[in-house]
Amino acid sequence: MQIIPRLQSDLPRLTALRHDIHAHPELAFEERRTADVAAKWLADAGIEVHRGLAGTGVVGVLRAGTSGRAIGLRADMDALPIHEQNIFPHHSRHDGKMHACGHDGHTAMLLAAAEQLARTRNFDGTVYFIFQPAEEGEGGARAMIEEGLFTRFPMEAVFGMHNWPGLPVGQFAVHAGPVMAGTDQFDIVMRGHGAHAAMPHQGFDPVLAGAALVQAVQSIVSRNIDPTDAAVVSVTRFHAGEAYNVIPPEATLGGTVRTFRPEVQDKVEAALERLSAGIAAAHGMQASLAYRRGYPPTINSVREAELCKSIAAGIVGTENVRTDLPPSMGAEDFAYMLREKPGCYLWIGNGPGEGGCTLHNPRYDFNDALLPIGASYWVRLTEQLLSPA
Ligand SMILES: [Zn+2]
Ligand SMILES: [Zn+2]
Repeated sequence: MQIIPRLQSDLPRLTALRHDIHAHPELAFEERRTADVAAKWLADAGIEVHRGLAGTGVVGVLRAGTSGRAIGLRADMDALPIHEQNIFPHHSRHDGKMHACGHDGHTAMLLAAAEQLARTRNFDGTVYFIFQPAEEGEGGARAMIEEGLFTRFPMEAVFGMHNWPGLPVGQFAVHAGPVMAGTDQFDIVMRGHGAHAAMPHQGFDPVLAGAALVQAVQSIVSRNIDPTDAAVVSVTRFHAGEAYNVIPPEATLGGTVRTFRPEVQDKVEAALERLSAGIAAAHGMQASLAYRRGYPPTINSVREAELCKSIAAGIVGTENVRTDLPPSMGAEDFAYMLREKPGCYLWIGNGPGEGGCTLHNPRYDFNDALLPIGASYWVRLTEQLLSPA
């Protein structure tokens, strides 16, 4: 493995940094201490620091040479509302909060790379180190963009990385196209007419109509979506009624939609509208649909994915860069950055995922062996994309 020697010999120091962040997890948009740690580390390395973008966001700016070219490298900083069950010394000091997705490791890897690049400056152009708040559900990436990330710090491409339990340490996985799903939510209200349960002919029963709709919704993926496209439509909520002898006036249904292409997302939304209105009409009532778009699909640009594949291969060997893994149905707000800029978000193996070491599990922990591997990837990516002419 071609890990940068200085990063490997720095492992104890980098591990201490990661453990400190792990022990002090902060939820979305509350990452004040984490942002302080990142800003201080960058400043100590002689890197220009900008704070306050999307509240707790931090951007480090490092220039070398004379080129006007620029790229962005992004790490997420937030933790999850999970009570940690690990008992190792660096366990969470904050009850009910935990770095269960490895954003502590992502932050540490990017800080390590920033420091190394500031030491060597073996590139020509500008690299922006983006530490974003609120990846977990709150869209911190979108907030940073809305507050001018790409206008204040113009860059030609942007790159992200996520640790991946189940993928061995020393491997990367790259997708030339969709890598994470888009995630939407919907609520449907079926408005019938309440009645005595013993006299159903005097009302219009929204429970029966809702049950028909739950079944009909499963025809969307099987009958409306191209079989070579992936999509999930799950009804996960169904609320109606209080009593045993009352047909309630309305029923509410809710659920989630996952897709990899905006066109498929549009089709699912249209089909949900058609089915809820049609099934309601068939049962003598009306329906209303509220469809809320969440994170868009995370889609790598082909050229950047190819570049990242070769850079990762330069560190771990071609045989350790997987390109055959299916994309994940999970979602990721780096998608907003990839909607604006070309770029690539890849997975770095976190190890076997045994004993609950899986994402969002109370026994998860970021694998410190990745720190010099991931940081080496960031350094080589910068050096190769901004290679001196
Ligand atoms: Zn997560
Ligand atoms: Zn995550």
